Amino acid sequence: MTAPVLLAEPTNVRVALGERSYDIAIGPGLIARLGSRIAALRPGAAAAIVTDETVARHHLGAAEASLAAAGVRSACVVVPPGETSKSWSMVERVCDALLAAKLERRDLVVALGGGVVGDLAGFAAAITRRGVDVVQVPTTLLAHVDSAVGGKTGINSAHGKNLIGAFHQPVLVVADTALLDTLPPRQFAAGYAEVAKYGLINDAAFFAWLETNWREVFSGKPARDHAIAVSCRAKAAIVARDERETGDRQLLNLGHTFGHALEAAAGFSDRLLHGEAVALGIVLAFAFSARLGLTSAAEAERVAAHFAAVGLPTRIADVTGATPRLDQLTELMAQDKKVKRGRLTFILARGIGKSFVAPDIDAGEVRAFLAEKLA
Ligand code: NAD
Repeated sequence: MTAPVLLAEPTNVRVALGERSYDIAIGPGLIARLGSRIAALRPGAAAAIVTDETVARHHLGAAEASLAAAGVRSACVVVPPGETSKSWSMVERVCDALLAAKLERRDLVVALGGGVVGDLAGFAAAITRRGVDVVQVPTTLLAHVDSAVGGKTGINSAHGKNLIGAFHQPVLVVADTALLDTLPPRQFAAGYAEVAKYGLINDAAFFAWLETNWREVFSGKPARDHAIAVSCRAKAAIVARDERETGDRQLLNLGHTFGHALEAAAGFSDRLLHGEAVALGIVLAFAFSARLGLTSAAEAERVAAHFAAVGLPTRIADVTGATPRLDQLTELMAQDKKVKRGRLTFILARGIGKSFVAPDIDAGEVRAFLAEKLA
C-alpha cells in the first residue's frame, strides 16, 4: 500500500457542464480525503467501490479506510485486471454486485482504477437503477489525464473497441497523484502518450515544455502533477465545448483511428497497451499529414523522436509478434466509429499544436500510406 503522503492544497479543475458540472481535485495524498469529500457531496449516501485485483492490492485499503473514517458505508466489487474486463459478462457481474450491496439511486459508485475500471464501473453505474452517480478515482496516468474525465463509459464488442457504452459524467474526480507511484513504468509511459497528445492537439508550448521536462514528469517530481493539471484543464475545456463529440471533442481522437486498429490487430493484449497504440497512432497521423502535404516531414519527425525518447513505440515493427496484415488494418479502421458513409474521419495536423478534424479522407490514400509503412 502507498505510504501516507503529506497533503498539499489540491489543484482544482472545474468541468463546466451546467447542472452536470463537477470538480477534478488533483494532488498527492487525496485518497485520504475521499470519504470526507463524498460525505460532503452526498450526506448519508453509501458507496460501492469497483476496482481490479491489482489496484485492490495497492490502494483498496486506503480508499476503504477513508470512506469508513468519514462514516460512509461501503461495499466492494473486484474484477480481474486488463482490457478483457470491458465485457458484457463483467458488466452483468458488477451490476449484480451493486444491486446485492443494496445500492440506491442516491448512493454512489466509486471507480478506483485505470481506464478499464473507469469505463466498466461508469457504464455499470449508468445503467444500474437507470443511473447511479459515479466518482472517478483514477490510478493510472492515462486515467488521470483522460479516461476519468469527460463521461465516456463503455465496453468492447467482438466488432470493435468501445462500441457499447453511454455518456455518464462523474459527479467528482479525485486524482491522487501519489497513487501513480506504484504504477509500472511501462504503464506510466503508455499514459504519457495521452499527456503529449494535448500539446500536439492545440498547445505547442506544452509539447515543447514536455520535450524539455519529460524526465521530471516520469520521475514523479512536481512536474508530474503540473503535466496532469495542464492535461485535465485541456480535457475539461474540450468536453465543456462539446460534451457529445459532435465537433471539437473529436480532436481527442488524435492517433486513435490508426491506434485502435493496431490495438485490435494485437488482440488487445500486452503486445501493445492502449496508450502505446495511441503513441504509434499519433506518429502515423503526423506522418500521414506530412504525406498529404499538410505539415512538414520535420514536424512529423519531431513527434516521433519525442515518443521514441520516452520509450514508446513509433514504428509498426516495434509491436512484438506477427506483423498485422494491410487488409486486416483497413478493415478494422472501417469498423471504427469515426466512419461516416464509407469515408474515414481522421484527426490530422498542420503542425505541432495544430490538429484538426478531417472528415472526408479517401480510404485508398490511407491504404497506400499503410502499405508503405508495412513494407
Ligand atoms: P488499465 O485500466 O488496464 O490499467 C493498466 C494496468 O495497470 C492494469 O493491470 C491495472 O491493474 C494496473 N494498475 C492500475 N493502477 C495501478 C497502480 N496505481 N499501481 C499499480 N498497478 C496499477 O489501463 P489504462 O491504460 O488505465 O486504461 C486503458 C483503457 O482506458 C482502455 O480500455 C481505453 O479504451 C480506456 N480509455 C477510456 C477513455 C474515456 O474517455 N473513457 C479515454 C482513454 C482511454
